[in-house]
Amino acid sequence: MSIHHPSVSRPHMAALQPPRGTHDLIGEDQRRYRHVVETARRIVGLYGFDEWATPVFEDTKVFSRTLGETSDVVTKEMYTFTDRGGEGLTLRPEGTAAICRALVTNGLTQSLPQKVFYAGPMFRYERPQKGRYRQFHQIGLELIGAAEPLADAEAIACGWQILNALGIGGSVALELNTLGDKASRDAYREALVAYFSAHREALSEESRTRLERNPLRILDSKNEGDRALIADAPVIYDHLTEEAATFYVGLKRHLTQLGVPFRENPRIVRGLDYYNHTAFEFVTDALGSQGTVLAGGRYDGLVAEMGGPATPAVGWAAGIERLSMLLAEPPAAPAPVAVVPVGEEEEAALDVVQSLRAAGLRAEMAYRGNLKRRMERANKAGSWAAVILGTEERARGVAQVKDLRSGEQQEVALDGLATWLLARGVA
Ligand code: ATP
Ligand code: MG
Repeated sequence: MSIHHPSVSRPHMAALQPPRGTHDLIGEDQRRYRHVVETARRIVGLYGFDEWATPVFEDTKVFSRTLGETSDVVTKEMYTFTDRGGEGLTLRPEGTAAICRALVTNGLTQSLPQKVFYAGPMFRYERPQKGRYRQFHQIGLELIGAAEPLADAEAIACGWQILNALGIGGSVALELNTLGDKASRDAYREALVAYFSAHREALSEESRTRLERNPLRILDSKNEGDRALIADAPVIYDHLTEEAATFYVGLKRHLTQLGVPFRENPRIVRGLDYYNHTAFEFVTDALGSQGTVLAGGRYDGLVAEMGGPATPAVGWAAGIERLSMLLAEPPAAPAPVAVVPVGEEEEAALDVVQSLRAAGLRAEMAYRGNLKRRMERANKAGSWAAVILGTEERARGVAQVKDLRSGEQQEVALDGLATWLLARGVA
């Protein structure tokens, strides 16, 4: 759809462009977006989640203190600015830290568990490409206050059910890993440092820095040389404490019971520092290198870092754009009923169109032109029915209703019109 205003166009002025890495959601794009969010809303409701909405910007410390000082997000992707009052703010790059901030500041740390769903825009300064934007959108959920592996399994199962409800379960695979508890990770870190130090020369410069500051993060490197080394690196399974191993076994057992297929991938560490125990990603090869569609894990330390009491939690987030691209069919555009006045019947037609809307029908008035033009317009708007109202019909309290799908036309009494249409129409 394009709107043309001849009187205000300035042909010599270049049209303003949207910021790099952003996109407008119009028409089919918007319908895909909405379908993803509404499907997720419906499914998370079945699991007992409530929706929260938090600000799109936060005190920068909400993210800089918690996501990890060596994470990609904090080192190079945040939209950080100082506002006119001198506050250091950041457009949220992800949802989890903000939800935990909200949990603490709303005094909800004593009302656990909290099962939170959210949907909305996120912002990261990244190199834009297919499936990677600077303003993108996520759905996500957080199960806060549950320490058992059953919580991880339910969060994952809920994500899996959403993917299936969207019809894309067949094009994604769940990759599962554990990051263990602190003792497991300490032992694993030592093994990694020993291994990567022996291959220090072959590491990318970025990963050499990680080797000093956060060696686990090397496993998340996208550098090709690093990837080759990573393939032979030690795996965490050999360093799990008994407790961490038991947790992981429990998670796998619950997932199996819930019918969620998975494969283990010891290389998954996730991009943010706050994860422990469970880490997982639903991946696809249908989107090129932007293959992760839904990802998350357990983050037992985050609420405490936000200033709250020690609180176990698990969650995930999914990129709406990536999910939208995987939808086989775009949801159909909604089809209206067109009310078409003939001759002087515009006011009567307006009453009819309002009465149809009051009855819950999507109805539009076909403006301007003769009957032929108005019928063309009704067809172009994708109408499934046209209610044609002439003077003679109105006098008799009826209208001609043409089903534009079948071409059939019939006379219908105005006082039963809405019911008649509702019985036949598209929702
Ligand atoms: P990637 O490895 O693709 O950069 P990530 O690990 O940074 O992903 P998360 O922080 O886990 O991603 O975010 C969860 C999901 O959000 C991703 O799996 C992806 O679907 C989506 N996502 C993340 N960054 C972007 C982006 N810049 N544009 C579009 N979607 C994104
Ligand atoms: Mg990223």
